Amino acid sequence: MTLGEIRKLYIDTLSEIFERSEATTIARFMFEEVMQLNSLYQSLQTHLILTVEQERVLLEYLARLKKKEPFQHVLGFELFYGCKFNVNPDVLIPRPETEELVQWIIENEQQVKSIIDIGTGSGCIAVSLAKNLPNAEVDAVDVSENAVEMAKANAALNNTTVNFSVLDILHSTPSRPYDVIVSNPPYIGDDEKKLMDDNVLLYEPHLALFPENQPLLFYQRISEIGQQFLPPGGRLYFEMNEFYANEIAAIAEQLGYKDVTIKKDINGKDRMLRALKS
Ligand code: GLN
Repeated sequence: MTLGEIRKLYIDTLSEIFERSEATTIARFMFEEVMQLNSLYQSLQTHLILTVEQERVLLEYLARLKKKEPFQHVLGFELFYGCKFNVNPDVLIPRPETEELVQWIIENEQQVKSIIDIGTGSGCIAVSLAKNLPNAEVDAVDVSENAVEMAKANAALNNTTVNFSVLDILHSTPSRPYDVIVSNPPYIGDDEKKLMDDNVLLYEPHLALFPENQPLLFYQRISEIGQQFLPPGGRLYFEMNEFYANEIAAIAEQLGYKDVTIKKDINGKDRMLRALKS
């Protein structure tokens, strides 16, 4: 089989599931990884004949993609804030909106000494912050043991030091104070499920996505924990569901936080919040 032939097979097959432009992008990622060919060469080298092994792997990947497995699970990783993060069904695939949260924290917190990331999942927030905030000691917790294992592997993969531990934040508290608390907790309402793609619903951890129809639960709890574990002037950062941004800001204000700021993501949605412990 030639590269041109398998490329056509990929794009035709995946266009039945995805928009054609997305199908083309996924095909490009797969060929980049399996054949180590950048996209320019992919379009130039259409007559290149695949090795038996390349053909076997690419056809196996295509069968998995047809079952709507996320391409990040097929490849085993996603890129986030310039780093590679391994992923599997135990952790949420890092999202671009979370890169915006990380960017915002990095811009604001160059001097910060200690951070805790609550609900770390793949570890993408904690690892990116540890890499880009030279003075910060970064701790990260998750209720899922499997997620913590994956996050530890990702910190090692990216040569960073993060102290990970298993912690159920709804029933326990951190063991020490922090200058900054950050969290991207589960925030999708059950009513939004019907709008979601199968590749999320069938393959990504519901524990990380759906707060069992209590969309404010984690925000309330973590904001209360901030009152106890942030020093005066300490900062709380959240990623959030745009539909609950005002309610989450109200929780922070009721608890006595000041300078409560909502920030929009690149799509104009109220996605991030920052609040100062008074
Ligand atoms: N932003 C993610 C999504 O829309 C959800 C992340 C979360 O629930 N914390 O799929």
